Amino acid sequence: MSETLFISDLHLGSGSPARLELFLDFLAGRAPQAERLFILGDLFDAWIGDDHQAPPIPMILGALRRLSEQGTEIWLMHGNRDFLLGEDFCRAAGCRLLPDPYPLDLYGTPSLLMHGDLLCTDDQAYLHFRQQVRSPPFVAAFLAKPIPERLAIAQEYRRMSGEANSLKAADIMDVNQEAVEQQMRRHGVGLLIHGHTHRPARHDFWLDGQAVTRLVLADWSDDQGAVLRVTPEGIGVEPLGAGETAG
Ligand code: MN
Repeated sequence: MSETLFISDLHLGSGSPARLELFLDFLAGRAPQAERLFILGDLFDAWIGDDHQAPPIPMILGALRRLSEQGTEIWLMHGNRDFLLGEDFCRAAGCRLLPDPYPLDLYGTPSLLMHGDLLCTDDQAYLHFRQQVRSPPFVAAFLAKPIPERLAIAQEYRRMSGEANSLKAADIMDVNQEAVEQQMRRHGVGLLIHGHTHRPARHDFWLDGQAVTRLVLADWSDDQGAVLRVTPEGIGVEPLGAGETAG
């Protein structure tokens, strides 16, 4: 079937067994019906290197590989939490890594896929931090550290980012409309799909005389997930878990 699915912001980790189960059910039951699955960032709540294989990582890796072996292409984009996901993980899981932003023709609609953090240009402190931690020398130095030390650093970053975010105005944590328009114009697209902000919505607006759309993917909670489905016929959102309707 000509169908493409999009999910993001699952923030999987050892502390969310119910959400993990929701995801594994999705990979085994719903996802194999689609030709492509895009995971647009923050699949994991933290990623400290492909050599760290503590539970539940092997289980997730195996479930992704089974899905890819059934014929569904899996495309993975980095989020701000799991930007260290590397080629080793992707090879083992049968996924392909995408750059951010990534232009894609979606059944005839020129579209752009992003995680979404690059659109939050009002938060300059974060963008500066982002550039620092993704520089190749920084990444190489981090990955060379022993795993316990990397875990401790990641935990410290999360604590600091939690404190910083609670002090920031709510609107600087959302996308900047000018940044959205700049990206859509640069790539000549009428549809932008991203996650990150945890503000699922459909925004229709005018750009240079054209009706365009920005779709924001939902984050997953412990009892509820959501998947965006795009087919040649249209676009829809399916709830997973608690909000799922019978049949
Ligand atoms: Mn994010």
